[in-house]
Amino acid sequence: MPVRQLIIVGSGPAGYTAAIYAARADLRPLVIASSVEFGGELMKTTEVENFPGFPEGIMGPDLMTRMQQQAERFGAEIVYDDVTRLELTGPVKRVTLGSGAVHEANALVFATGSAYRKLGLEDEARLSGYGISWCATCDGAFFRQKHIAVVGGGDSAMEEATFLTRFADKVTVIHRRDSLRASKTMQERAFADPKIEFLWNKEVTRIYGDTHVTGVGLVDTVDGSESALDVAGLFIAIGSDPRTHLVHGQLELTPEGTIAVEGRSSRTNLPGVFAAGDVIDPTYRQAVTAAGSGTVAAIDAEHYLASLPADAIPQVADAPRAAEPVAASA
Ligand code: NAP
Repeated sequence: MPVRQLIIVGSGPAGYTAAIYAARADLRPLVIASSVEFGGELMKTTEVENFPGFPEGIMGPDLMTRMQQQAERFGAEIVYDDVTRLELTGPVKRVTLGSGAVHEANALVFATGSAYRKLGLEDEARLSGYGISWCATCDGAFFRQKHIAVVGGGDSAMEEATFLTRFADKVTVIHRRDSLRASKTMQERAFADPKIEFLWNKEVTRIYGDTHVTGVGLVDTVDGSESALDVAGLFIAIGSDPRTHLVHGQLELTPEGTIAVEGRSSRTNLPGVFAAGDVIDPTYRQAVTAAGSGTVAAIDAEHYLASLPADAIPQVADAPRAAEPVAASA
């Protein structure tokens, strides 16, 4: 396979926005979108109310489909497969996929986002899919007229709890402190919902159930007392960690575990390798900030490619071209 100009690993708001910009710059990027998790975290969310341009809100999966279509319209090529290996140190970046296919490019944008955090309990993995879930939009309908619990105190937990009241009779939010981290709007919505109740200062320490979840064991974080709660399901919404395992030993990380980039740029410690989105952001982690970060990465990659000697830039004859003439950059 010929060496391309740009490969983008990741298909959340950062990856697709980088693809839109890079495709419009005629870099004909290849997006590696993952076999299962394409579209990123927004594929698992419900209504997105804070992405500018959608005053009535938009469903997360619809937003991601639109981004994908926009990238394809300008000639981005998308492969739905998982990266198994990245070789980033040389001038040509090499990407190996689960299928065995190998793609090479002069520049690479790494936008793999973040992965849901786990509680780290003994039966968590065993009962995953049998009452334990990280995705209310995926699994909520299995809990019609049931009592379920959500663990966490951030926006994700409030969003999951509120969504789950469509199905469940009762949703108990279990939080380890006595105040929420979630934004005021999300808190108020959850507090106002008659189906949601809160258990404060409690940590989930056990999950009960042989074939499916029947309850959880709790410890009070203030007085250490133990209790149990009968629930048919437990939705875990305790945040996420940057997905960096593919680049360990190659890209420098920050103390928070995100990929280190230079200042406000997307430049990593390796020339030609750029990083964008949640994987570099320990603080804001919004769809719109990830999209902005993807823009930065595409522009940085474009500048890097332009700085290479002309004979280093490949001509990819078989890559798809933009479907229609592209206007000058905004
Ligand atoms: P988060 O803001 O990091 O909140 C994680 C929550 O889980 C915190 O309340 C934390 O407790 C708790 N937690 C962490 N580890 C725990 C553990 N081991 N056991 C029990 N509880 C634990 O994560 P998030 O809610 O996923 O949100 C991430 C980012 O996405 C935020 O910037 C958020 O604003 C954004 N987001 C936005 C929307 C929206 O606007 N529609 C929706 C979802 C997410 P402590 O509070 O005690 O630390």
